[in-house]
Amino acid sequence: MVIPAETRIRVLFDAATIAARNREIAAEVAASKPVNLLVAPVLKGSFMFAADLLRELHAVGLTPQVEFLQLSSYGAGVSSSGQVTMLRDLESSVKGRDVLLVDDILESGRTLAYAKDLLVARGARSVKCCVLLEKPTKRAVNVTPDLVGFHCPDVFVVGYGMDVAHSCRELPYVGVIES
Ligand code: 5GP
Ligand code: MG
Ligand code: MG
Repeated sequence: MVIPAETRIRVLFDAATIAARNREIAAEVAASKPVNLLVAPVLKGSFMFAADLLRELHAVGLTPQVEFLQLSSYGAGVSSSGQVTMLRDLESSVKGRDVLLVDDILESGRTLAYAKDLLVARGARSVKCCVLLEKPTKRAVNVTPDLVGFHCPDVFVVGYGMDVAHSCRELPYVGVIES
């Protein structure tokens, strides 16, 4: 599916609003005084959020390492398949480290619960979950995010790293496709 150029997208969270919130989240992370911090963005949807958040973490004086996980629960569709698949694992050990998992959206919670359980089992000192958006409904497993950018209505959103069939990730804001 290719998204037509004339597609209209309604902005839900604009770039300036997201940037301001990222700064606040970074301050909260710094206040927790993390030890040997590893930031672990969950690809692909979190790449833009993670990149901006990492610059804010630098600005508040933190020096995290960064490693990527790639997990899939959606495939190319617009609803969760319910099954989480690991497509790419971290390369280094998390033993004894404070890990900040970064994801785009918490919906059913299966993706983050899978990642958190895995890193706890591998001996991380702590695993915190930071999500740009939290959706209120459809929670299937009990996982509470430690840091949330914004509460999001129960609509399918795109932009700021998030896709619809591989399109729209480049948008600097989060929006909803209108037509
Ligand atoms: P869950 O919490 O259900 O395991 O899955 C959350 C993942 O589903 C998110 O990380 C994201 O990849 C995908 N997802 C959930 N809602 C949306 C949405 O509105 N738009 C997009 N593009 N992806 C979504
Ligand atoms: Mg995701
Ligand atoms: Mg997707």
